[in-house]
Amino acid sequence: MLVVMNVDATTEQIDAVCAAIRGLGFTPHPMPGAQRTAVCVTGNQGPVHRDVLASLPGVREVISVSKPYKLVSRETHAESTVVRVGGHAIGGGALQFIAGPCSVESEDRMMRIAEGVAALGVPFLRAGAYKPRTSPYAFQGLEQEGLRILDAVRRRFGLRIVTEVLSEESVEAVASVADVLQIGARNMQNFALLKKVARCANPVLLKRGASATVEEWLMAAEYLLSGGNRQVILCERGIRTFSDQTRNTLDVSAIAAVKALSHLPVVADPSHAAGRREFVAPLARAAVAAGADGLIIEAHFDPNSAWSDGAQTIDLDHLAAVIAQARAYERLHVEENASSAR
Ligand code: PEP
Ligand code: MN
Repeated sequence: MLVVMNVDATTEQIDAVCAAIRGLGFTPHPMPGAQRTAVCVTGNQGPVHRDVLASLPGVREVISVSKPYKLVSRETHAESTVVRVGGHAIGGGALQFIAGPCSVESEDRMMRIAEGVAALGVPFLRAGAYKPRTSPYAFQGLEQEGLRILDAVRRRFGLRIVTEVLSEESVEAVASVADVLQIGARNMQNFALLKKVARCANPVLLKRGASATVEEWLMAAEYLLSGGNRQVILCERGIRTFSDQTRNTLDVSAIAAVKALSHLPVVADPSHAAGRREFVAPLARAAVAAGADGLIIEAHFDPNSAWSDGAQTIDLDHLAAVIAQARAYERLHVEENASSAR
């Protein structure tokens, strides 16, 4: 249920609507928009007795939200959300880039990668200090030492850090260094982790689970928004299908669908979808053509020596080419949207 306020509704009127919703035993979520504020109601099992709310001063209309994800839905918030991180925007306009190695490596190697990433004008550095690995014998990440290195890189190059938070216990430590908390594909439905991260001030990059439906992914995002964190970026990283020539299948259709269903920005991860570096560029172009707001790409000065995911990691020249191609596709996409609107 969504209570849409008049354009000139006062703060007192909005507060009174919130109080009335609480009085009914439900939770109000004020959603300020460019034109007007709407108050989303959650916690109701069936339709709220709408007349109670519709008759309050300043209320324009009370409408039902048909989707199970309420706060994430475009029905509740028509304008696209822009997640801002230290002066850099994700969503709502220009294509954004996040690049770096799969794992945090030694301090020297990280400085070299960060320098290359920063030189390409990429404002966000990705690298995992805590790694979710299929094998317990594989490199698990530098953990605390990795966080220290990320902090040093951040200070030296002014890059914004995107890094994964793997468990509830490490949320505080990771959040103290990360500009954006990554929730990995394997944790998309770790509800305890989602609830804890929802209480953090950091923006969140929520990866789609390899076998998750779009609706499950959006419901996972709903945990973050309903828990108080609206700075959420969705990330399509490929799903598991019967296609056998790539690590995963980049679900390009999901990017287009999610842009229509939700106001949240969507970035694509062509690296984990491809699993092979030669497919990163074409998948990146496809994602941009489908409407992605940004790309997160595994890149390294020497991919063959990367400590994890080297096969899908591209070198810095290759990264420069992918960025240039993506920007060219973005221009085409903008022209396409303008001409289809005519
Ligand atoms: C990663 O970003 O390195 C990673 C582990 O990704 P995913 O959770 O998508 O597998
Ligand atoms: Mn990886």
